[in-house]
Amino acid sequence: MTSPAIHPCFLGPYGENDAVLEKLVVEFLRDHVYWRRNFHPEDPPAIPTTAAGEPGFRDFEARMRRELHSLSAALKRSVPFHSPRYIGHMASDLLLPGLAAQYLTLPYNPNNVSSDAAPVTVDLEIKVGLQLARMFGYADDPSRPDCAFGHLTSGGTLANFQALRLALALKAFPVALRAVMPPKLVDLPEDDRAAFNCTPSAAIALLSAWEAWLASCKPVERRLWRARLTSQRLETLGLVEFLARHPSLGSPRVFAPVTAHYSWSKGMKSTGLGRAQLELVPEQGMRMDMDALEDRLQRCLQLHQPVLAVVGVMGSTEFGTVDPIDALVDARERWAARGLGFGVHVDAAWGGYLATLFREPDGRLRALADMREEFRDFPAPEVHAAVAALGRTDSITVDPHKLGYIPYGAGAFVCRDQRAMALLAEDADYVFNTSTEDDYFQRFRQLGRYIPEGSKPGAAAAAVYVTHRVLPLDHENFGALPRESILATEAFRTAATRFAARVEGSLYCRIPFEPDSNLVCLALNPVGNRDVATMNRFVRALHEELSHDPRQPLQAREFFGAMTTLRPEILGETDTARVLASLGLDPKTLDAGGEDDDRLVILRHTLMNPFLIDNGNGISYLELYFDYLERRATALVAATAAAA
Ligand SMILES: *Cc1c(COP(=O)(O)O)cnc(C)c1O
Repeated sequence: MTSPAIHPCFLGPYGENDAVLEKLVVEFLRDHVYWRRNFHPEDPPAIPTTAAGEPGFRDFEARMRRELHSLSAALKRSVPFHSPRYIGHMASDLLLPGLAAQYLTLPYNPNNVSSDAAPVTVDLEIKVGLQLARMFGYADDPSRPDCAFGHLTSGGTLANFQALRLALALKAFPVALRAVMPPKLVDLPEDDRAAFNCTPSAAIALLSAWEAWLASCKPVERRLWRARLTSQRLETLGLVEFLARHPSLGSPRVFAPVTAHYSWSKGMKSTGLGRAQLELVPEQGMRMDMDALEDRLQRCLQLHQPVLAVVGVMGSTEFGTVDPIDALVDARERWAARGLGFGVHVDAAWGGYLATLFREPDGRLRALADMREEFRDFPAPEVHAAVAALGRTDSITVDPHKLGYIPYGAGAFVCRDQRAMALLAEDADYVFNTSTEDDYFQRFRQLGRYIPEGSKPGAAAAAVYVTHRVLPLDHENFGALPRESILATEAFRTAATRFAARVEGSLYCRIPFEPDSNLVCLALNPVGNRDVATMNRFVRALHEELSHDPRQPLQAREFFGAMTTLRPEILGETDTARVLASLGLDPKTLDAGGEDDDRLVILRHTLMNPFLIDNGNGISYLELYFDYLERRATALVAATAAAA
């Protein structure tokens, strides 16, 4: 049964909570109109009361209605994300608090570029950053100098871009500092290479020392030194000129797992670092292969190849798997001691909100044993260790518009130590040595100076903030949502096992690897088929019927699912052999040089709808799905056999 805690949270698959939302929308629209009227009520109305009778007015209204009706009709062809019959991509119903806050805020149209344009919602955005920081185990007390800072972006792609920008700024700053050699600033790295190999923490320490030293200078000198430093910074010179001036350095490399989202490729291109400097590390058991990473780091050390960052993924886009974040931060410390400094960024665009399950209301991490009482086998000890290490990473990407159930246009970037943000400031950051909560808010209210965007919607910040207030980011509150999602995953696996037994004579059905979170893949192959390409055709045909077809009425589809592919470099050698054998496939047909045979096509299910298991009517959509799959797969096997 779906937990009663979920019942008031969403509009609902059937629009069950429509009265609540309608009441809120009308109430706050009226409220907004009163606000307009009460701003100088002595001003006479600008639009005459007779305007509605003018022919142009009526024409305009008719045109507007016509267009809106046709838009509304067209939108009926949308993908039904809200339905428990939708288990495809990373989308589901929207949380009512977020949706209502978004509606409420829209007509005020705040622009979160700065507090001048958004006196209310900029503060909410800064607070959202602190809420997310707390969820991850970063310091969230703004009176601490090393408090975290986070802001919203249009999505995870831009948050990852921001991570690259900040990592690069931190890497290059010590080199610029050495180039200007401020007197009496102790502990400068001994040469360019040492400077370029500081960890982010060491670079932040240098930055703080520099700011403190500047503060002690007379204003004229301070301006002079600031200008000198600026002229040496990578952001001023550009990567080409900067590296030309420091020939011992070389272009910095980024390591990410083979499961990394393609936004990393985009980020490397748009920062000018270059796609070739992004090196994908193989996986072992669906987690980043630490031995493979160590080999690569060793090679970098030998070749004096600098490393900008190692990216760990918490909830890979295709498989929901979690990299060993704990091992990555340990590796950062070990390699820094050997002279190879780099940052650790976590791409938790998908899985970030799962962290709520690991958090007590007082902010402490939950014990693994306590969590295990709620689930059959979530979280794996490796996943618990990975989440426990989030607080030691340098920065994190998370998407409120994915597992946060917030409308689109809400990604987030969070960095562990706000002092680093000075390096991204578009002009000189005059509020250094932040020491009070007031300073913190004062500084970041000029948000546009630090973020990749300029103008951006305050309504998105309001939606995320209100949601986090109604459902605080711990296991007792927001955690109810991912809990439902993980329970659905466990129920899905049980149903899959029963399904596999039912169809045993005609079809192999396998879960190719144990899921770390709430994405589950299914590999299906007709018994008797040994050929990879043939299996791929079979699964593609099944997927076709699970996909949105704009030429057909929505109701013609029973379920919506997604598809992905398993490549040997993602599974690793051992697992690839195991999966092929479990499906009765001949390994020689994998990558045999034909069309579509270098990977396995599999079905992929995102189980984030909160009403999958039993919506109170005794209906399990997961059972319904497997009944459907049985019908379709059996028909398809028969059709294939008849054709052969
Ligand atoms: C979705 C996703 C992204 C990109 O986020 P957008 O919000 O689509 O820009 C990046 N990384 C991972 C792991 C993701 O799942």
